[in-house]
Amino acid sequence: MGLLSEGKPLSWEETKKNAWKVHKVGIQQFISLFHKLKDRKGDTLKWGDEVEYNLISLDEEKKVAKLSLLGPQILEVLQKPESDDPLHHKAKWRPEYASYMIEGTPGASPYGGCYSDFNVVEANMKLRREMLYEALKGTSVFPLALTAFPRMGCPGFTEPEFLPQPATSKSRSLFYPDEVIWSGHPRFITLTRNVRERRGEKPAMNMPIFKDKATPSPFVEVVPNDDGTASTCGKPDHIYLDCMGFGMGCSCLQVTFQGCDLNESRHLYDQLSVMCPIMLALSAATPILRGYLADVDCRWGVISGSVDDRTQEERGLKPLKDDKWVIPKSRYDSIDMYLANPEYNDKEVPINELAYQTLTENGVDELMARHVAHLFIRDPISLFAEKLEQDVENESDHFENIQSTNWQSMRFKPPPPNSPIGWRVEFRPMELQITDFENAAFVVFIVLVTRAILSFKLNFLIPISKMEDNMKRAINRDAARQGLFYFRKSLLPEDDEDDEGKETPPTGATPTAPQSHKHEYTLMSIDTIINGKDEFPGVIPLVRMYVNSIDIDVDTRCTVMQYLRFISKRASGELPTAATWMRQFVLSHPDYKHDSVVSEIINYDLISKIRDISEGRSPCNELTGRLTSRADSLRPSLPRRISVRSDSKDGND
Ligand code: GLU
Ligand code: MG
Repeated sequence: MGLLSEGKPLSWEETKKNAWKVHKVGIQQFISLFHKLKDRKGDTLKWGDEVEYNLISLDEEKKVAKLSLLGPQILEVLQKPESDDPLHHKAKWRPEYASYMIEGTPGASPYGGCYSDFNVVEANMKLRREMLYEALKGTSVFPLALTAFPRMGCPGFTEPEFLPQPATSKSRSLFYPDEVIWSGHPRFITLTRNVRERRGEKPAMNMPIFKDKATPSPFVEVVPNDDGTASTCGKPDHIYLDCMGFGMGCSCLQVTFQGCDLNESRHLYDQLSVMCPIMLALSAATPILRGYLADVDCRWGVISGSVDDRTQEERGLKPLKDDKWVIPKSRYDSIDMYLANPEYNDKEVPINELAYQTLTENGVDELMARHVAHLFIRDPISLFAEKLEQDVENESDHFENIQSTNWQSMRFKPPPPNSPIGWRVEFRPMELQITDFENAAFVVFIVLVTRAILSFKLNFLIPISKMEDNMKRAINRDAARQGLFYFRKSLLPEDDEDDEGKETPPTGATPTAPQSHKHEYTLMSIDTIINGKDEFPGVIPLVRMYVNSIDIDVDTRCTVMQYLRFISKRASGELPTAATWMRQFVLSHPDYKHDSVVSEIINYDLISKIRDISEGRSPCNELTGRLTSRADSLRPSLPRRISVRSDSKDGND
């Protein structure tokens, strides 16, 4: 989760005092990077995935499932292959927000060198799981690719157990003890405190509860240790959540791409950002919050609220006095502007004017300057004493400080100073799937979408305000099957040339009237968007065309086609999202009382079932539709526990 500087974290007061320095030097660092690297060409298209795992402990006698806090203890073991062989290790491990989390990525070399890499993604995910099992050997703890632990924040939800200390803890949470936050690095607890202190109060997320026939109406929760915040900030018919941990303690599946140059990366950033809400809805996996069924399917609203450090003035609740801007959104949310297509930027976006002026005076183009100056309306939210003084030419920590705490649906990443890495974009919205097959399918699909975009010069753009609207639609219960999303009517370049009223792109980023693009988009279901309908081609048929146009070995083609079939069936509604599947599991559990409560025993059974599925011990046909890939065959050495699929292999279509 971003920059991990070493050293002593400053208090919020000291951090605030030094914010000007981070802003000033951060902008200079960006300018320096930009000029050194803006003309860099010929990088190859590379990519890699990130999976944030949860560590789980099951008490089989008491039938209780908990989050295990062993993360910091196993990190060193997991990182040994990397430290022993920095150039050839097969998996990289990094801390994440909570001690029950750990982030794994594919290792020294990113993918992209050859098409057969598509066949390695799933195998590498299995390898990562296997490394986790190995590091956890001798304990009863195991990893799951789970977006949000269903009873996160319920009494005793971790092993070991801690009591929340709302009067004294850094988070002041009624539910989420500080001891749960990653204990191996001060960044995470500092961020937690500083988000609250900067905001001037605890974050407050109210997510609608799923109203079942025995759910009290109105649903008003009495929180036993309430210090007054639950009764005042919690809303009737909502699940109240009160700290960073509820959001940043969620996990996700991210993919990073390196473009061949600055322009290609900007182009991909814009195009992929339109896919963010679509892929969020399609990957939905968060139907349960703090032990209650929610009326949303995704983590997005929770995580966005959990790091919303805007003051009351910035939220527009009070007139501006001490703060500079009214800021419409949290620092975790969808992107606010495109980087290569200003004609679709139809929203007023607050910018740090001083930063903007410095950037444009120093030769950064207007649109990029606006993007960076928008990121720089945020204060640094954690700062380390040892890192205050920074070199402009050879370091980028102050820039990264602001950049890495703007947790947006996409991230545009300049190359680090003095490194062989090129211009990258990060695709960040997707929720985690239960099986490696599904996660690999999502990763490979989005990579193939980028290839199709570039090869066929596809255009997905809609006004940014419509993309933002889609983001809100994406989190709704069953949005994948029932939701309607704004999408472009024609994706192919030649169709556009005949379009009447097409605008010539203005040079600046001045918002244009949204109606000037109105004829270009319409509301569509995810099925139509992904699979196509009537005249509309659909994303999968275009991706298939791309796959058929490349010279790819039979084995990899088989795997890729299985992934595409899976995504297609998910989009058509033939296969459920993880959220729908989990919700159904709860609704049909014998202990469920139709009161929206996900009890310890339901949680235990759900987690046990997810474990059995992800370890291949229990069939997952309901989730994957009997589809399998041939990626297994690449790693015959993996223990059977993980590599055996119980899906019937002859079920492949
Ligand atoms: N866990 C966060 C999420 O679910 C992402 C944190 C990160 O940026 O790595 O979106
Ligand atoms: Mg992460």
